Amino acid sequence: MTKKFNIAVFHGDGIGPGIMGPTVKILTQMADASSGYDLIFQDAPAGAAHYAKTGESLPDASMDTARNADAILLSAMGLPDVRYTDGTEISPQIDLRKALTLFAGVRPVTVRKGQRTPLNLPAGKEIDFVLIRESTEGLFHSQGRGAVTDNEARETLLITRDISEKLFRFAFDLAQTRKQAGRGPGKVTCVDKANVFRAFAFFRELFDAEAAKHPDLTSDHAYVDATALWMVQKPWDFDVMVTENMFGDILSDLGAGLMGGLGLAPSADIGLDHAVFQPCHGSAPDIAGQDLANPFAMILSAAMMLDWLGIKHDNAAIRADGKRLRETVEDVVASGTYLTRDLGGTAGTDKAAGAVLDALFVS
Ligand code: ATP
Repeated sequence: MTKKFNIAVFHGDGIGPGIMGPTVKILTQMADASSGYDLIFQDAPAGAAHYAKTGESLPDASMDTARNADAILLSAMGLPDVRYTDGTEISPQIDLRKALTLFAGVRPVTVRKGQRTPLNLPAGKEIDFVLIRESTEGLFHSQGRGAVTDNEARETLLITRDISEKLFRFAFDLAQTRKQAGRGPGKVTCVDKANVFRAFAFFRELFDAEAAKHPDLTSDHAYVDATALWMVQKPWDFDVMVTENMFGDILSDLGAGLMGGLGLAPSADIGLDHAVFQPCHGSAPDIAGQDLANPFAMILSAAMMLDWLGIKHDNAAIRADGKRLRETVEDVVASGTYLTRDLGGTAGTDKAAGAVLDALFVS
């Protein structure tokens, strides 16, 4: 019997619905054409516009839909003008991360031949690494609860054994999967500041303990400041990098910069049982409703979802479609014909997404 996967869909705010629509269309057509799996989409209303209308940003029913789904597809959420009464922004994606313990923030950074990048890549060099950002603790632990007096301000960084062990196991498993797929040498780099902070020496110790369990993979360490330098000077040297929440927050934007901007940067937040797939960028209210949004980061996030479902459920058909979708987007970007304005082109959102659909089914 064909395996059916339930996908919770958060359409988001601003440009969110405009990039989610064509993404769901692509996924639907891929599933329809496959005899190996089926996708059932369930809308989960949430976000800033929903809050403005109903007073709820993440209704219980939507949380239940997410919790019961096989995977969660989420478009950009939040609007600068819509805030809770305490002034903070509406971000159901962060609520989901906490509620579902999605500790591994996965940020792939790829630059293929023909793709624009601010770097002057030596001939024949491509970039293909994954940054894993711990997403539930670190310096974000005391988010919203920092202690501030007239004379000083304090925030607390938290590193736990439990989450770190899960995080490092995930990182080495990912390096193994990539090695098997011919996408990397099977190397994991622990990015920290162990020369200055005891918390990071602890982080590194736990990393080394996990590394010792994987004699078929290699591992090394790098300080976060040097990593920022090397990401610019020799990014092709990285395979899988794993780091603390705040360091990962900063380095993942640097990674998006290497790819020519946020419009091509997909992401996943993964835990032991659940996973959310969403573009790295925000809801871009400045261009919402003008058919200017680049849909590729959203579509690449959907490709990551297919890949993750395929690995988790040992389903070769859905995994193959994840690879096909990613490679098709890379080809469309490299061809340069249907690029949106942020990538230097003139295509609108639907045209760019339509080029992916045509490349999948027409050619
Ligand atoms: P957030 O804090 O919610 O992540 P942000 O302040 O980082 O949001 P974004 O909404 O990501 O901001 O937008 C930053 C800039 O990038 C804006 O000028 C926006 O128009 C542009 N941008 C973001 N995403 C896209 C996209 N998919 N296509 C085209 N331009 C985009």
